[in-house]
Formats: sequence, C-alpha cells, structure tokens
Amino acid sequence: MPNIKRIALVAHDNRKADLIEWIKFNKGNLIKHDLFCTGTTGIMVEKAIGDESKVTLLKSGPLGGDQQLGSLIAEEKIDFLIFFWDPMSSHPHDVDVKALLRLSVLYNIPTACNRSTADFIISSTLYNSDYKRTLKDYTPYLNRQV
Ligand code: PGA
Repeated sequence: MPNIKRIALVAHDNRKADLIEWIKFNKGNLIKHDLFCTGTTGIMVEKAIGDESKVTLLKSGPLGGDQQLGSLIAEEKIDFLIFFWDPMSSHPHDVDVKALLRLSVLYNIPTACNRSTADFIISSTLYNSDYKRTLKDYTPYLNRQV
C-alpha cells in the first residue's frame, strides 16, 4: 500500500450523518490521502473537509457509483473501504452493495461498515505504514479447463 492511501467513503442516507461526524473527527488524518466517494456522500465529505480535500466524485450509489468503486477495487486502486450501509432499509441497488462488499473481501481490502471498525482501522499502526495486502492466487482458477 502506498503512503498516500486511496480511501473509498460511502454512506447510505440514514448513515451519512454518522460518516460525516467520523470524517470531521478524523479530518487531520484523512486530508493527506486521496478520497473516492459516491456522489452524494462525496459532496458532503468535501463540505466537511473543506478546501484541502482531495475527493474524486463518482456517480451516486444507486446510479452506478457502488459499481464504479467495485471496479476501482478490482483494478487495485483502492486501499480502504469505509462503507456505512444502512442495516434498517432495503435499497434499489442492494445487489450493487453486495457486489461492492464481495469485491472488498475478494481483494482483501480493509473494510469498515460501522464506526468502531473505522476507528480501529484509522488508529492502527498499519494505517500509516507500507502494509502489503496478501492476495489469494487465482491462477488455478484462471487455468481451469472448461
Ligand atoms: P450516494 O450513494 O453517496 O450517492 O448517496 C451511496 C449509496 O447509496 O451507495
């Protein structure tokens, strides 16, 4: 992982206030990194962090933003995923949410879906180090006979 981390930030509407509170609390720790956000979350993150923010705005989640993030993960362009999804509502893009979380597991991306996990990630000594994620070798899968 590079020293400048590429951090994906997403929150469902009922969790946006929680994410923004976490972002304000950790602003000093986040501004030096590159942030990637789904559309509506990203606009709120930019406001919360101010001019120093380095936010790449993707599409709004239900309009493909979650899929764009999944694609960045598959291209190994994301180091952390902070995704405050709403456990009390269903969404039109639930399948996209599932796909995004699946890819974060597949690519062994540190993923926080609640504040305490996000706190553990950002306060870990590994957060500012050159941590090397291990990736499972899928060569046998790719070479399978079909
Ligand atoms: P939003 O998308 O940031 O555009 O609201 C988040 C989501 O629902 O995945």
